[in-house]
Amino acid sequence: ATPTALMVGTGRGAKLGILIKNGEVLETVNDITTVVFDKTGTITVGKPKVTDIVGDNKHVLQVAATLEEFSEHPLATAIVDEAKDQALFIGQAQDFKAVGGQGVFAKVKGQQAFVGNEKLRHNFDMTQELQQKMASLQDEAKTVVLVGLDQHVIGLIAIQDVPKETSKEALNALKVRGLKTVMLTGDNQRVAQAIANQVGIEQVIAEVTPNDKAKQVKLLQENGKVAFVGDGINDAPALSTAEVGIAMGSGTDIAIDSGGIVLVKNDLRDVDKALALSKKIFDRIK
Ligand code: ADP
Ligand code: MG
Repeated sequence: ATPTALMVGTGRGAKLGILIKNGEVLETVNDITTVVFDKTGTITVGKPKVTDIVGDNKHVLQVAATLEEFSEHPLATAIVDEAKDQALFIGQAQDFKAVGGQGVFAKVKGQQAFVGNEKLRHNFDMTQELQQKMASLQDEAKTVVLVGLDQHVIGLIAIQDVPKETSKEALNALKVRGLKTVMLTGDNQRVAQAIANQVGIEQVIAEVTPNDKAKQVKLLQENGKVAFVGDGINDAPALSTAEVGIAMGSGTDIAIDSGGIVLVKNDLRDVDKALALSKKIFDRIK
């Protein structure tokens, strides 16, 4: 394509709220065969809310909030906000440690405690009843956080983050173009699958650690050129690895820096618009 055509394309994109960092990106967009999406904040709104608490509600929430006070994870914010809404006293924790893709652990009144997923449970025991509750909440597309204190899982907190209104339509438009769609998330398999069913994503790769997101993109690249759409710190390596990195405007600075395209309106339908724009320009030139 001529530099002028690319300039026209990036200019048109900018008007639509699709920032294209350089013309070559627009050219690559035309060759994409697979579009990979992060879940939280990309497909979903990214404002998770507590919906269910299993166990001694106040105690479970209080212990969880005490640990999550130190974390900046969206799930942590949901838990702390709920505790504040219920006017619960948030205690003090010591020896706080966050484990990426798992949760946090710390000491509360001298006792070891954790808040996070199964991977962080280690030698804390958990009843059959809680195991079953966890699975059924996950099938409702809710992320379940385990709360452990002194060797026992004392309860569960279910947190829901709903798909953005336009996600389903956006995914469908890509499918109509014949593109393969994939969800890549650190969240649990059941939750990821439930959200994927809601919006119509073909393939789900769940329980991926932040470090492995880029690795999964490389595997998908064996079958064609990949666009990755994400918003988080943990998405930055995947955004740079993909042939086209598409960052949400609401995303973290590092995600925005790593993307070749930024969707200012945070609307996934703009992925299809970027594809249409690229097609228009390149079809005209040919
Ligand atoms: P995503 O790919 O959806 O952005 P993350 O890699 O940030 O997911 O987190 C993956 C999983 O790790 C979460 O679904 C949750 O189970 C667990 N987790 C991470 N941080 C926390 C935290 N602060 N509190 C509770 N759970 C957490
Ligand atoms: Mg995210």
